[in-house]
Amino acid sequence: MQGRKALPHNDPLELIVLGSGTCVPTGYRGPSSYAVCRGERALLIDMGAGCLEKLARCGISYRNIDGVILSHYHVDHTSELPLLLFANNYSPGYARATSLRIVGPAGLNTFLRDLERLYRWVKPLNYEIIPIEGRTPSATFLGDVELRSCPAAHGDGRALSVRLDAGAVSITFSGDTGYSADLVALARDTDLLIIECSYPAGRESEAEGHLTPKTAARIASECMAKKVILTHLYPEAFHSDPKSQFLEQAQADVTVAYDFLRITL
Ligand SMILES: [Zn+2]
Ligand SMILES: [Zn+2]
Repeated sequence: MQGRKALPHNDPLELIVLGSGTCVPTGYRGPSSYAVCRGERALLIDMGAGCLEKLARCGISYRNIDGVILSHYHVDHTSELPLLLFANNYSPGYARATSLRIVGPAGLNTFLRDLERLYRWVKPLNYEIIPIEGRTPSATFLGDVELRSCPAAHGDGRALSVRLDAGAVSITFSGDTGYSADLVALARDTDLLIIECSYPAGRESEAEGHLTPKTAARIASECMAKKVILTHLYPEAFHSDPKSQFLEQAQADVTVAYDFLRITL
């Protein structure tokens, strides 16, 4: 692995929502992806389709991606990763000068091997591959951003919620999940809770592995998040005013995510 340049920690962290939607194509919400940026460097949480082009439109090159954290392997969260690996290996005149950290739940090595078999030429070079199986390995990004995680209640169990702490500020991402006491513990007192809200109110019984405004509000109030962003919205949820439905259940500073939403912490 080549050396990692020390980063100035005085740049504030910025969150950019690159994809606030799901697998359902719409003209206004891409599949799941978020960039946590410090200066011109970024850590990506999930890589749904189109996220690299959106990152570039925000002025951040794919060359400046410090790490990638995959919450799970569903295609709406991962399909842009092969494009990044391909670009890193074969962009004309460019060889990546620093290592890239790729973090994911159990099965990460198999997932990357399967991508390579499928696409060829997307072999991760001398990257750090960090599967999370049980305890979160210690890893820092963007200089001083520390990662913690817990299992998310979603799919076959290979899914994560993650929390990033940088000095006095923290961001917690639910990933795709149903109600989870582990997530409540992970997100305790977090400054910014980015929480999925796939379905509209009234659909709780059908929303196994996902949240509605009511269940998202329960988690947000139990963990006492200071600010809440509702995201991963199917069109049906978006068109049913999820913010009002959330506020019927909990008092909080809540925003409905949209692509290119930017928040400085
Ligand atoms: Zn999803
Ligand atoms: Zn999923």
